[in-house]
Amino acid sequence: MTQESAVYKALKEHFGHSKFKSELQQKAVECAVKKKQDVYVSMPTGSGKSLCFQLPGLMCENQITIVFSPLLALIKDQIDHLTKLKVPADSLNSKMSTKERDRVIMDLRAVKTTLRFLYITPEQAATKFFQELLHTLHKHKKLAYFAVDEAHCVSQWGHDFRPDYLKLGELRSKYPDITWLALTATASKEVREDIYKQLRLKQPVAQFTTPSFRKNLFYDIVYKNSIEDDFQHLADFARHCFGDPKEFKEQSKPQRGCGIVYCRTREQVERMAIGVTKQGIAAVAYHAGLKTAERTEVQEAWMRGDKPIICATNSFGMGVDKATVRFVIHWDVPQNVAAYYQESGRAGRDGLPSFCRLYYGREDVRSIRFLLQNDAQRARGRGDKEMLTERALKQFEKITEFCERTTCRHKLFSDFFGDPPPQCNSQCDVCKRPKKAEKALEMFHRLCMD
Ligand code: ADP
Ligand code: MG
Ligand code: ZN
Repeated sequence: MTQESAVYKALKEHFGHSKFKSELQQKAVECAVKKKQDVYVSMPTGSGKSLCFQLPGLMCENQITIVFSPLLALIKDQIDHLTKLKVPADSLNSKMSTKERDRVIMDLRAVKTTLRFLYITPEQAATKFFQELLHTLHKHKKLAYFAVDEAHCVSQWGHDFRPDYLKLGELRSKYPDITWLALTATASKEVREDIYKQLRLKQPVAQFTTPSFRKNLFYDIVYKNSIEDDFQHLADFARHCFGDPKEFKEQSKPQRGCGIVYCRTREQVERMAIGVTKQGIAAVAYHAGLKTAERTEVQEAWMRGDKPIICATNSFGMGVDKATVRFVIHWDVPQNVAAYYQESGRAGRDGLPSFCRLYYGREDVRSIRFLLQNDAQRARGRGDKEMLTERALKQFEKITEFCERTTCRHKLFSDFFGDPPPQCNSQCDVCKRPKKAEKALEMFHRLCMD
């Protein structure tokens, strides 16, 4: 049997899938199976990263894959999933009873180990006990792979840095013959480089990353000082994004286009929802000040399509997967490039043309900067906190500088993720009409001086 057909057979046999979810998933699996190189996978949440280590792991008979994962909740989900598929998988952690632990340890020490996956938090991985266990497994050639899920946790540049992840690098030196697989959903260039360095992955690492460029999204920036009536401007834009009103009406409500307007403060969210509704498009307000039940109701009204626009603080969006978002508006400058990419990226998940607009104003910049500077001041001399707040300030400045330039809007993201420059193809205001963009910026600067 060729390796390719062996991979497909295992995919069907263990997971019941007859296809890979994407070419990238397939390539990553095939590469991991060869064990010639360490493998790095960066794909968005939900694209099937687990399979990129689970399938190769299952193809190593009588061997076990050690999976490092940051949270017990994530570990539990994955073990439950594997158990349903009848794949022996377990964990060693502080929440287990002695009896459960003993059962796992017995199995790991047995001549014939039945477990195929052992999930471990990095804290556990650092214990002497676990180190000895690994040593034994390795000696008996029972180790298939080391897999690091949520690998961005190893990086101080990431959003949830876990110091214990740093110790994983030592394992790489101890067991140089074992192939490593690192997976993450969020990786800027800096984070990726950090992952390679901290996990001491062997160069050249085989890299499988979803390109950041979203060709169905049109990005533009509108300077707030150039518009007369905020709400009207925004509502006109929303109508433009929704397209032909007749077609819009003909669709069932949940299928209709909808939009998100991100604002920085609760007050702004409330004002925006009222203002937009007055312009004739029903909008709801979503923010952390609402009771949980209210928030759920607001979100559901938007999901159902009863209210096409949701005005929200950035607490909205995690886990929200609505395909027909035709626009995402940032009424205030996003705090950094990662947030801008993630939030605006909620538009156009169905692949249809969609719009991402940022309304830019110096007033907003000043107030956000002021808050960030205060944070930084308070954090002075407080180690990590100081570093974090200063970085937040720098990242914010980066995005404001970008807004006052005329470079391709998509290039902001490709640079950030370390991708080659995208074929924007007039999918941003600058590339579409460079002269107009220049003029708008000039006008903005002139009005700022008045
Ligand atoms: P990620 O870790 O990238 O967020 P998961 O590994 O949790 O994603 O997978 C997301 C979902 O995709 C799971 O429900 C998983 O069963 C499913 N999935 C993964 N690979 C395939 C495939 N080849 N065909 C169909 N579904 C798949
Ligand atoms: Mg995952
Ligand atoms: Zn462009």
